Amino acid sequence: MAIATINPTTGKTLKSFQPFTEDEVEGKLRRAHAAFLRYRTESFDARAMKMRKAAEILESEKDRWGSLMVLEMGKPIVAARQEAEKSARVCRYYADHAGRFLSDEVVPTSASQSYIRYEPLGAILAVMPWNFPFWQVFRFAAPALMAGNVGLLKHASNVPQCALAIEEIFRRAGFPEGVFQTLLIGSDQVQRVLEDSAVKAATLTGSEPAGRSVASLAGRLIKKTVLELGGSDPFIVMPSAKLEEAVTVGVKARTINNGQSCIAAKRFIIHDKLYEPFRKAFVKGMEQLVVGDPMNEQTAVGPLATPDGLETLDEQVRTAVENGAHLLTGGKRVGRQGFFYAPTVLEGIPSDAPAYSEELFGPVALLFRAKSAEDAVRIANDTPYGLGSSVWTNDPEEQKFFLRNLEAGSVFFNAMVVSDPQLPFGGVKSSGYGRELSAFGIREFVNVKTIWIRETA
Ligand code: NAP
Repeated sequence: MAIATINPTTGKTLKSFQPFTEDEVEGKLRRAHAAFLRYRTESFDARAMKMRKAAEILESEKDRWGSLMVLEMGKPIVAARQEAEKSARVCRYYADHAGRFLSDEVVPTSASQSYIRYEPLGAILAVMPWNFPFWQVFRFAAPALMAGNVGLLKHASNVPQCALAIEEIFRRAGFPEGVFQTLLIGSDQVQRVLEDSAVKAATLTGSEPAGRSVASLAGRLIKKTVLELGGSDPFIVMPSAKLEEAVTVGVKARTINNGQSCIAAKRFIIHDKLYEPFRKAFVKGMEQLVVGDPMNEQTAVGPLATPDGLETLDEQVRTAVENGAHLLTGGKRVGRQGFFYAPTVLEGIPSDAPAYSEELFGPVALLFRAKSAEDAVRIANDTPYGLGSSVWTNDPEEQKFFLRNLEAGSVFFNAMVVSDPQLPFGGVKSSGYGRELSAFGIREFVNVKTIWIRETA
Protein backbone atom coordinates (compact mmCIF):
# COMPACT_ATOMS: atom_id res chain seq x y z
CA MET A 1 0.00 0.00 0.00
CA ALA A 2 1.33 3.47 -0.88
CA ILE A 3 2.16 5.65 2.11
CA ALA A 4 -0.27 8.51 1.64
CA THR A 5 -3.00 10.65 3.16
CA ILE A 6 -6.20 9.95 1.22
CA ASN A 7 -9.16 11.86 2.62
CA PRO A 8 -11.91 9.22 3.05
CA THR A 9 -14.60 11.91 2.94
CA THR A 10 -13.69 12.89 -0.63
CA GLY A 11 -11.47 10.03 -1.85
CA LYS A 12 -8.79 12.57 -2.83
CA THR A 13 -5.08 11.92 -2.27
CA LEU A 14 -3.74 14.87 -0.31
CA LYS A 15 -0.13 13.96 0.34
CA SER A 16 2.19 11.06 -0.56
CA PHE A 17 5.37 9.97 1.17
CA GLN A 18 8.38 8.04 -0.09
CA PRO A 19 9.08 4.99 2.08
CA PHE A 20 12.39 5.24 3.95
CA THR A 21 15.40 3.90 2.06
CA GLU A 22 17.49 1.05 3.44
CA ASP A 23 20.07 3.59 4.69
CA GLU A 24 17.44 5.67 6.43
CA VAL A 25 16.01 2.61 8.19
CA GLU A 26 19.52 1.56 9.22
CA GLY A 27 20.19 5.05 10.62
CA LYS A 28 16.99 4.96 12.71
CA LEU A 29 17.82 1.52 14.10
CA ARG A 30 21.32 2.55 15.16
CA ARG A 31 19.93 5.73 16.73
CA ALA A 32 17.33 3.68 18.63
CA HIS A 33 20.01 1.41 20.04
CA ALA A 34 22.29 4.30 21.04
CA ALA A 35 19.36 6.11 22.65
CA PHE A 36 18.40 3.00 24.64
CA LEU A 37 21.85 2.67 26.20
CA ARG A 38 21.48 6.13 27.75
CA TYR A 39 17.71 6.26 28.30
CA ARG A 40 17.54 2.99 30.26
CA THR A 41 19.50 4.66 33.10
CA GLU A 42 17.05 7.57 33.51
CA SER A 43 14.95 7.56 36.68
CA PHE A 44 11.19 7.01 36.66
CA ASP A 45 10.75 10.60 37.82
CA ALA A 46 12.73 11.97 34.88
CA ARG A 47 10.74 9.86 32.42
CA ALA A 48 7.45 10.78 34.11
CA MET A 49 8.12 14.50 33.78
CA LYS A 50 8.42 14.13 30.01
CA MET A 51 5.42 11.81 29.81
CA ARG A 52 3.27 14.42 31.62
CA LYS A 53 4.49 17.03 29.16
CA ALA A 54 3.39 14.77 26.28
CA ALA A 55 -0.05 14.58 27.94
CA GLU A 56 -0.21 18.38 28.12
CA ILE A 57 0.66 18.74 24.43
CA LEU A 58 -2.01 16.18 23.51
CA GLU A 59 -4.67 17.99 25.50
CA SER A 60 -3.85 21.59 24.74
CA GLU A 61 -3.64 20.90 20.99
CA LYS A 62 -6.45 18.35 20.75
CA ASP A 63 -8.17 20.33 17.95
CA ARG A 64 -5.09 20.00 15.77
CA TRP A 65 -4.59 16.29 16.46
CA GLY A 66 -8.33 15.65 16.11
CA SER A 67 -8.50 17.34 12.69
CA LEU A 68 -5.52 15.33 11.50
CA MET A 69 -7.18 12.05 12.48
CA VAL A 70 -10.39 13.06 10.68
CA LEU A 71 -8.46 14.05 7.58
CA GLU A 72 -6.60 10.75 7.34
CA MET A 73 -9.16 8.18 8.51
CA GLY A 74 -12.55 9.87 8.76
CA LYS A 75 -13.67 9.40 12.40
CA PRO A 76 -16.14 12.03 13.65
CA ILE A 77 -14.35 15.12 14.97
CA VAL A 78 -15.82 15.01 18.48
CA ALA A 79 -14.54 11.44 18.94
CA ALA A 80 -11.17 12.41 17.44
CA ARG A 81 -10.65 15.17 20.02
CA GLN A 82 -11.68 12.69 22.74
CA GLU A 83 -9.08 10.28 21.41
CA ALA A 84 -6.35 12.90 21.93
CA GLU A 85 -7.62 13.39 25.51
CA LYS A 86 -7.70 9.66 26.17
CA SER A 87 -4.14 9.38 24.88
CA ALA A 88 -3.17 12.07 27.39
CA ARG A 89 -4.83 10.01 30.16
CA VAL A 90 -2.75 6.92 29.42
CA CYS A 91 0.43 9.03 29.47
CA ARG A 92 -0.48 10.40 32.92
CA TYR A 93 -1.56 6.99 34.18
CA TYR A 94 1.84 5.44 33.48
CA ALA A 95 3.70 8.57 34.61
CA ASP A 96 1.93 8.12 37.97
CA HIS A 97 2.15 4.34 38.33
CA ALA A 98 5.11 2.95 36.36
CA GLY A 99 7.54 3.30 39.28
CA ARG A 100 5.25 1.23 41.51
CA PHE A 101 4.49 -1.39 38.84
CA LEU A 102 8.20 -1.93 38.20
CA SER A 103 9.74 -1.53 41.63
CA ASP A 104 11.80 -4.40 43.04
CA GLU A 105 9.76 -7.15 44.71
CA VAL A 106 11.34 -8.99 47.62
CA VAL A 107 10.56 -12.71 47.74
CA PRO A 108 11.71 -14.49 50.92
CA THR A 109 13.53 -17.74 50.04
CA SER A 110 16.47 -19.72 51.43
CA ALA A 111 18.78 -16.98 50.06
CA SER A 112 20.16 -14.20 52.24
CA GLN A 113 18.32 -11.87 49.89
CA SER A 114 16.16 -12.60 46.87
CA TYR A 115 14.04 -10.31 44.79
CA ILE A 116 12.56 -9.64 41.37
CA ARG A 117 13.79 -6.74 39.32
CA TYR A 118 12.17 -5.42 36.12
CA GLU A 119 14.54 -4.21 33.41
CA PRO A 120 13.80 -2.71 30.00
CA LEU A 121 14.56 -4.78 26.90
CA GLY A 122 15.63 -2.26 24.25
CA ALA A 123 13.93 -1.12 21.04
CA ILE A 124 10.36 -2.39 20.66
CA LEU A 125 8.74 -2.38 17.23
CA ALA A 126 5.07 -1.32 17.22
CA VAL A 127 3.07 -2.19 14.09
CA MET A 128 -0.12 -0.21 14.43
CA PRO A 129 -3.53 0.19 12.70
CA TRP A 130 -5.25 3.32 11.46
CA ASN A 131 -8.55 2.97 13.32
CA PHE A 132 -7.48 4.71 16.55
CA PRO A 133 -4.37 6.33 15.07
CA PHE A 134 -3.34 8.10 18.30
CA TRP A 135 -4.79 5.92 21.07
CA GLN A 136 -3.35 2.62 19.81
CA VAL A 137 0.12 4.13 19.63
CA PHE A 138 0.01 5.89 23.00
CA ARG A 139 -1.31 2.85 24.82
CA PHE A 140 1.82 1.03 23.61
CA ALA A 141 4.27 3.92 23.93
CA ALA A 142 3.36 5.27 27.39
CA PRO A 143 4.15 2.02 29.25
CA ALA A 144 7.05 1.08 26.93
CA LEU A 145 8.84 4.40 27.39
CA MET A 146 8.09 4.58 31.11
CA ALA A 147 9.68 1.12 31.47
CA GLY A 148 12.87 2.45 29.85
CA ASN A 149 12.43 0.89 26.42
CA VAL A 150 12.61 2.88 23.20
CA GLY A 151 9.88 2.76 20.54
CA LEU A 152 9.93 2.27 16.78
CA LEU A 153 6.56 2.92 15.17
CA LYS A 154 5.50 1.38 11.87
CA HIS A 155 2.07 2.92 11.53
CA ALA A 156 -0.57 1.98 8.95
CA SER A 157 0.27 3.39 5.52
CA ASN A 158 -2.85 5.58 5.37
CA VAL A 159 -2.04 7.62 8.51
CA PRO A 160 1.53 8.88 7.90
CA GLN A 161 0.83 12.40 9.17
CA CYS A 162 -0.56 11.03 12.45
CA ALA A 163 2.58 8.89 12.74
CA LEU A 164 4.86 11.91 12.25
CA ALA A 165 2.75 14.01 14.63
CA ILE A 166 3.19 11.44 17.41
CA GLU A 167 6.96 11.48 16.95
CA GLU A 168 6.80 15.30 17.13
CA ILE A 169 4.80 15.15 20.39
CA PHE A 170 7.38 12.94 22.11
CA ARG A 171 10.23 15.11 20.84
CA ARG A 172 8.58 18.31 22.06
CA ALA A 173 7.87 16.63 25.41
CA GLY A 174 11.63 16.34 25.88
CA PHE A 175 12.31 12.66 25.19
CA PRO A 176 15.89 12.35 23.91
CA GLU A 177 16.58 11.89 20.21
CA GLY A 178 15.96 8.28 19.18
CA VAL A 179 13.68 7.30 22.10
CA PHE A 180 10.57 7.35 19.92
CA GLN A 181 10.90 7.22 16.13
CA THR A 182 8.45 6.80 13.32
CA LEU A 183 9.51 4.59 10.44
CA LEU A 184 7.72 5.49 7.22
CA ILE A 185 7.90 1.99 5.77
CA GLY A 186 5.56 -0.42 4.05
CA SER A 187 4.64 -3.77 5.58
CA ASP A 188 7.23 -5.41 3.28
CA GLN A 189 10.02 -3.68 5.27
CA VAL A 190 8.82 -5.00 8.65
CA GLN A 191 10.84 -8.21 8.37
CA ARG A 192 14.09 -6.32 7.90
CA VAL A 193 13.42 -4.21 11.00
CA LEU A 194 12.37 -7.14 13.15
CA GLU A 195 15.50 -9.07 12.15
CA ASP A 196 17.79 -6.27 13.36
CA SER A 197 19.60 -7.10 16.59
CA ALA A 198 18.59 -3.74 18.14
CA VAL A 199 14.92 -4.75 18.02
CA LYS A 200 14.11 -6.99 20.97
CA ALA A 201 10.34 -7.49 20.68
CA ALA A 202 7.26 -6.42 18.74
CA THR A 203 3.66 -5.56 19.34
CA LEU A 204 1.10 -5.62 16.55
CA THR A 205 -2.43 -4.30 16.60
CA GLY A 206 -4.27 -5.12 13.42
CA SER A 207 -5.81 -7.91 11.41
CA GLU A 208 -5.32 -11.64 11.88
CA PRO A 209 -3.17 -12.12 8.72
CA ALA A 210 -0.82 -9.30 9.74
CA GLY A 211 -0.58 -10.78 13.25
CA ARG A 212 0.15 -14.23 11.92
CA SER A 213 2.89 -12.93 9.64
CA VAL A 214 4.71 -10.85 12.27
CA ALA A 215 4.31 -13.43 15.04
CA SER A 216 5.63 -16.30 12.92
CA LEU A 217 8.68 -14.28 11.92
CA ALA A 218 9.25 -13.18 15.52
CA GLY A 219 8.85 -16.80 16.60
CA ARG A 220 11.64 -17.84 14.28
CA LEU A 221 13.82 -15.06 15.69
CA ILE A 222 12.77 -15.89 19.28
CA LYS A 223 11.57 -12.37 19.92
CA LYS A 224 8.54 -11.79 22.09
CA THR A 225 5.28 -10.48 20.62
CA VAL A 226 2.01 -9.09 21.87
CA LEU A 227 -0.88 -9.37 19.43
CA GLU A 228 -4.09 -7.32 19.54
CA LEU A 229 -6.09 -8.60 16.61
CA GLY A 230 -9.63 -8.57 15.35
CA GLY A 231 -12.84 -9.23 17.19
CA SER A 232 -16.47 -10.11 16.59
CA ASP A 233 -17.79 -9.22 20.00
CA PRO A 234 -21.16 -10.49 21.18
CA PHE A 235 -23.73 -8.12 22.72
CA ILE A 236 -26.16 -10.34 24.62
CA VAL A 237 -29.53 -9.08 25.86
CA MET A 238 -31.45 -11.16 28.42
CA PRO A 239 -35.01 -10.67 29.71
CA SER A 240 -34.00 -8.79 32.90
CA ALA A 241 -32.19 -6.10 30.87
CA LYS A 242 -33.38 -2.52 30.52
CA LEU A 243 -34.43 -2.77 26.90
CA GLU A 244 -34.41 0.88 25.95
CA GLU A 245 -30.94 1.44 27.36
CA ALA A 246 -29.62 -1.75 25.76
CA VAL A 247 -30.85 -0.54 22.37
CA THR A 248 -29.33 2.95 22.71
CA VAL A 249 -25.98 1.61 23.90
CA GLY A 250 -26.10 -1.20 21.31
CA VAL A 251 -26.44 1.27 18.41
CA LYS A 252 -23.50 3.27 19.76
CA ALA A 253 -21.41 0.15 20.47
CA ARG A 254 -21.87 -1.02 16.86
CA THR A 255 -21.26 2.30 15.11
CA ILE A 256 -18.55 3.90 17.25
CA ASN A 257 -15.57 4.95 15.10
CA ASN A 258 -17.76 4.47 11.99
CA GLY A 259 -18.10 0.81 12.96
CA GLN A 260 -14.34 0.23 12.76
CA SER A 261 -13.41 -0.73 16.28
CA CYS A 262 -11.99 -4.09 17.30
CA ILE A 263 -14.20 -4.05 20.42
CA ALA A 264 -17.34 -2.82 18.66
CA ALA A 265 -20.40 -4.96 19.39
CA LYS A 266 -20.78 -6.91 16.16
CA ARG A 267 -23.16 -9.78 16.93
CA PHE A 268 -26.36 -8.96 18.82
CA ILE A 269 -27.66 -12.08 20.54
CA ILE A 270 -31.12 -11.35 21.87
CA HIS A 271 -33.26 -13.57 24.08
CA ASP A 272 -36.46 -14.79 22.44
CA LYS A 273 -38.64 -12.82 24.85
CA LEU A 274 -37.10 -9.47 23.84
CA TYR A 275 -36.17 -10.22 20.25
CA GLU A 276 -39.07 -8.50 18.46
CA PRO A 277 -39.08 -5.23 20.46
CA PHE A 278 -35.27 -5.09 20.40
CA ARG A 279 -35.14 -5.58 16.63
CA LYS A 280 -37.75 -2.88 15.98
CA ALA A 281 -36.09 -0.27 18.20
CA PHE A 282 -32.56 -1.18 17.11
CA VAL A 283 -33.33 -0.87 13.39
CA LYS A 284 -34.99 2.50 14.07
CA GLY A 285 -31.93 3.64 16.05
CA MET A 286 -29.56 2.66 13.24
CA GLU A 287 -31.75 4.47 10.65
CA GLN A 288 -31.77 7.67 12.71
CA LEU A 289 -27.98 8.02 12.79
CA VAL A 290 -26.62 11.05 10.97
CA VAL A 291 -24.22 9.84 8.29
CA GLY A 292 -22.01 12.49 6.70
CA ASP A 293 -19.04 14.82 6.88
CA PRO A 294 -16.95 13.78 9.91
CA MET A 295 -15.83 17.38 10.45
CA ASN A 296 -19.45 18.27 11.28
CA GLU A 297 -20.02 17.95 15.03
CA GLN A 298 -23.53 16.53 14.50
CA THR A 299 -22.25 13.56 12.47
CA ALA A 300 -22.54 10.15 14.14
CA VAL A 301 -21.13 8.02 11.32
CA GLY A 302 -18.47 9.20 8.86
CA PRO A 303 -16.89 7.32 5.96
CA LEU A 304 -14.96 4.07 6.17
CA ALA A 305 -11.23 4.71 6.18
CA THR A 306 -10.26 3.06 2.90
CA PRO A 307 -11.82 2.01 -0.43
CA ASP A 308 -10.69 -1.58 0.23
CA GLY A 309 -12.51 -1.62 3.56
CA LEU A 310 -15.66 -0.35 1.85
CA GLU A 311 -15.41 -2.97 -0.91
CA THR A 312 -14.85 -5.81 1.58
CA LEU A 313 -17.77 -4.78 3.80
CA ASP A 314 -20.14 -4.36 0.85
CA GLU A 315 -19.21 -7.78 -0.45
CA GLN A 316 -19.64 -9.41 2.98
CA VAL A 317 -23.17 -7.97 3.20
CA ARG A 318 -24.08 -8.93 -0.39
CA THR A 319 -22.80 -12.50 0.07
CA ALA A 320 -24.69 -12.87 3.36
CA VAL A 321 -27.93 -11.81 1.66
CA GLU A 322 -27.27 -14.15 -1.28
CA ASN A 323 -26.79 -16.94 1.27
CA GLY A 324 -30.19 -16.26 2.83
CA ALA A 325 -29.70 -13.48 5.44
CA HIS A 326 -32.48 -10.86 5.69
CA LEU A 327 -31.54 -7.23 5.21
CA LEU A 328 -33.52 -5.10 7.69
CA THR A 329 -31.98 -1.75 6.76
CA GLY A 330 -29.00 -0.29 4.88
CA GLY A 331 -26.89 -2.65 2.79
CA LYS A 332 -25.65 0.02 0.41
CA ARG A 333 -23.06 2.72 -0.15
CA VAL A 334 -24.04 6.31 0.54
CA GLY A 335 -23.20 9.40 -1.57
CA ARG A 336 -21.27 9.81 -4.75
CA GLN A 337 -17.88 10.56 -3.27
CA GLY A 338 -15.94 9.22 -0.31
CA PHE A 339 -16.18 5.81 1.32
CA PHE A 340 -19.58 5.99 3.07
CA TYR A 341 -21.70 2.96 3.94
CA ALA A 342 -25.23 3.03 5.37
CA PRO A 343 -25.80 1.69 8.91
CA THR A 344 -26.98 -1.84 8.20
CA VAL A 345 -28.79 -4.60 10.11
CA LEU A 346 -28.95 -8.25 9.05
CA GLU A 347 -30.77 -11.17 10.66
CA GLY A 348 -31.06 -14.87 9.92
CA ILE A 349 -27.39 -15.15 8.94
CA PRO A 350 -26.71 -18.77 7.90
CA SER A 351 -23.76 -20.32 9.72
CA ASP A 352 -22.04 -21.11 6.40
CA ALA A 353 -22.10 -17.48 5.18
CA PRO A 354 -18.66 -15.80 5.53
CA ALA A 355 -20.29 -12.96 7.53
CA TYR A 356 -21.17 -15.47 10.28
CA SER A 357 -17.55 -16.07 11.20
CA GLU A 358 -15.67 -13.07 9.74
CA GLU A 359 -15.16 -9.70 11.38
CA LEU A 360 -17.39 -6.98 9.83
CA PHE A 361 -15.33 -3.79 10.02
CA GLY A 362 -17.99 -1.13 9.43
CA PRO A 363 -21.49 -0.13 10.62
CA VAL A 364 -23.13 -3.53 10.04
CA ALA A 365 -24.92 -5.37 12.87
CA LEU A 366 -25.87 -9.04 12.88
CA LEU A 367 -28.93 -10.11 14.91
CA PHE A 368 -29.31 -13.57 16.42
CA ARG A 369 -32.16 -15.05 18.46
CA ALA A 370 -31.28 -17.09 21.58
CA LYS A 371 -33.60 -19.49 23.41
CA SER A 372 -31.75 -19.36 26.74
CA ALA A 373 -28.54 -18.26 28.45
CA GLU A 374 -26.90 -21.54 27.33
CA ASP A 375 -27.98 -20.92 23.76
CA ALA A 376 -26.66 -17.32 23.93
CA VAL A 377 -23.25 -18.55 25.11
CA ARG A 378 -23.18 -21.20 22.38
CA ILE A 379 -23.77 -18.56 19.68
CA ALA A 380 -21.38 -16.06 21.32
CA ASN A 381 -18.53 -18.58 21.44
CA ASP A 382 -19.16 -19.86 17.90
CA THR A 383 -16.48 -17.58 16.41
CA PRO A 384 -12.73 -17.73 15.91
CA TYR A 385 -12.42 -14.50 17.93
CA GLY A 386 -12.48 -13.80 21.67
CA LEU A 387 -11.84 -10.12 22.36
CA GLY A 388 -14.60 -8.42 24.40
CA SER A 389 -18.21 -9.20 25.28
CA SER A 390 -21.15 -7.23 26.61
CA VAL A 391 -24.03 -8.86 28.47
CA TRP A 392 -27.25 -7.15 29.51
CA THR A 393 -28.79 -8.87 32.50
CA ASN A 394 -29.58 -7.88 36.07
CA ASP A 395 -29.84 -11.45 37.31
CA PRO A 396 -26.77 -12.22 39.52
CA GLU A 397 -26.88 -15.97 38.83
CA GLU A 398 -27.01 -15.33 35.10
CA GLN A 399 -24.08 -12.91 35.40
CA LYS A 400 -22.00 -15.66 37.05
CA PHE A 401 -22.95 -18.06 34.29
CA PHE A 402 -21.89 -15.65 31.53
CA LEU A 403 -18.64 -14.50 33.12
CA ARG A 404 -17.53 -18.11 33.55
CA ASN A 405 -18.53 -19.34 30.12
CA LEU A 406 -17.84 -16.58 27.61
CA GLU A 407 -14.57 -17.11 25.73
CA ALA A 408 -13.36 -13.50 25.73
CA GLY A 409 -10.71 -11.21 27.19
CA SER A 410 -13.38 -9.17 28.99
CA VAL A 411 -17.04 -9.34 30.00
CA PHE A 412 -18.91 -6.07 30.57
CA PHE A 413 -22.36 -6.25 32.20
CA ASN A 414 -24.99 -3.64 31.31
CA ALA A 415 -22.39 -1.52 29.51
CA MET A 416 -20.48 -1.49 26.24
CA VAL A 417 -16.91 -2.74 26.08
CA VAL A 418 -14.34 0.04 26.46
CA SER A 419 -10.62 0.18 27.15
CA ASP A 420 -9.42 1.83 30.36
CA PRO A 421 -5.77 2.43 31.32
CA GLN A 422 -6.47 0.87 34.75
CA LEU A 423 -7.70 -2.47 33.38
CA PRO A 424 -5.92 -5.08 31.25
CA PHE A 425 -6.96 -5.19 27.61
CA GLY A 426 -6.56 -8.08 25.16
CA GLY A 427 -8.11 -11.20 23.78
CA VAL A 428 -8.06 -14.96 23.49
CA LYS A 429 -8.35 -17.30 20.47
CA SER A 430 -7.69 -15.51 17.15
CA SER A 431 -8.01 -12.11 18.84
CA GLY A 432 -4.42 -12.46 19.98
CA TYR A 433 -2.39 -12.83 23.16
CA GLY A 434 -0.69 -10.70 25.75
CA ARG A 435 -2.25 -7.71 27.46
CA GLU A 436 -1.99 -3.97 27.14
CA LEU A 437 -2.76 -1.34 29.81
CA SER A 438 -2.65 -1.66 33.63
CA ALA A 439 0.30 -3.35 35.38
CA PHE A 440 0.01 -6.27 32.94
CA GLY A 441 0.70 -4.02 29.94
CA ILE A 442 3.91 -2.51 31.27
CA ARG A 443 5.28 -5.92 32.27
CA GLU A 444 4.98 -7.38 28.75
CA PHE A 445 8.21 -5.81 27.52
CA VAL A 446 10.61 -6.15 30.45
CA ASN A 447 13.17 -8.67 31.58
CA VAL A 448 11.75 -10.10 34.80
CA LYS A 449 15.12 -10.68 36.43
CA THR A 450 15.54 -12.95 39.44
CA ILE A 451 18.21 -11.82 41.90
CA TRP A 452 19.45 -14.39 44.43
CA ILE A 453 22.21 -13.50 46.89
CA ARG A 454 23.91 -15.80 49.40
CA GLU A 455 26.00 -13.91 51.88
CA THR A 456 29.18 -15.81 52.68
CA ALA A 457 31.02 -13.33 54.90
P1 NAP B 1 -3.98 -4.42 9.06
O1 NAP B 1 -4.24 -4.32 7.62
O2 NAP B 1 -3.63 -5.72 9.63
O3 NAP B 1 -2.84 -3.35 9.37
C1 NAP B 1 -2.34 -3.15 10.67
C2 NAP B 1 -0.86 -2.84 10.58
O4 NAP B 1 -0.15 -4.00 10.17
C3 NAP B 1 -0.52 -1.77 9.55
O5 NAP B 1 0.55 -0.98 10.04
C4 NAP B 1 -0.10 -2.58 8.34
O6 NAP B 1 0.75 -1.87 7.48
C5 NAP B 1 0.62 -3.72 9.01
N1 NAP B 1 0.67 -4.95 8.22
C6 NAP B 1 -0.28 -5.47 7.42
N2 NAP B 1 0.13 -6.65 6.92
C7 NAP B 1 1.37 -6.88 7.41
C8 NAP B 1 2.33 -7.92 7.25
N3 NAP B 1 2.08 -8.98 6.48
N4 NAP B 1 3.51 -7.81 7.89
C9 NAP B 1 3.78 -6.75 8.66
N5 NAP B 1 2.91 -5.72 8.85
C10 NAP B 1 1.71 -5.79 8.24
O7 NAP B 1 -5.20 -3.91 9.92
P2 NAP B 1 -6.02 -2.57 9.76
O8 NAP B 1 -6.90 -2.71 8.60
O9 NAP B 1 -5.10 -1.39 9.80
O10 NAP B 1 -6.83 -2.56 11.13
C11 NAP B 1 -8.01 -3.23 11.29
C12 NAP B 1 -7.84 -4.50 12.10
O11 NAP B 1 -7.18 -4.22 13.33
C13 NAP B 1 -9.16 -5.11 12.48
O12 NAP B 1 -9.09 -6.49 12.34
C14 NAP B 1 -9.30 -4.71 13.95
O13 NAP B 1 -10.18 -5.52 14.68
C15 NAP B 1 -7.91 -4.80 14.40
N6 NAP B 1 -7.71 -4.04 15.65
C16 NAP B 1 -7.51 -4.72 16.82
C17 NAP B 1 -7.38 -4.03 18.01
C18 NAP B 1 -7.15 -4.73 19.31
O14 NAP B 1 -6.76 -4.08 20.27
N7 NAP B 1 -7.37 -6.03 19.42
C19 NAP B 1 -7.45 -2.64 18.01
C20 NAP B 1 -7.66 -1.99 16.79
C21 NAP B 1 -7.78 -2.71 15.62
P3 NAP B 1 0.21 -1.26 6.09
O15 NAP B 1 -0.82 -0.24 6.44
O16 NAP B 1 1.43 -0.67 5.47
O17 NAP B 1 -0.36 -2.41 5.32
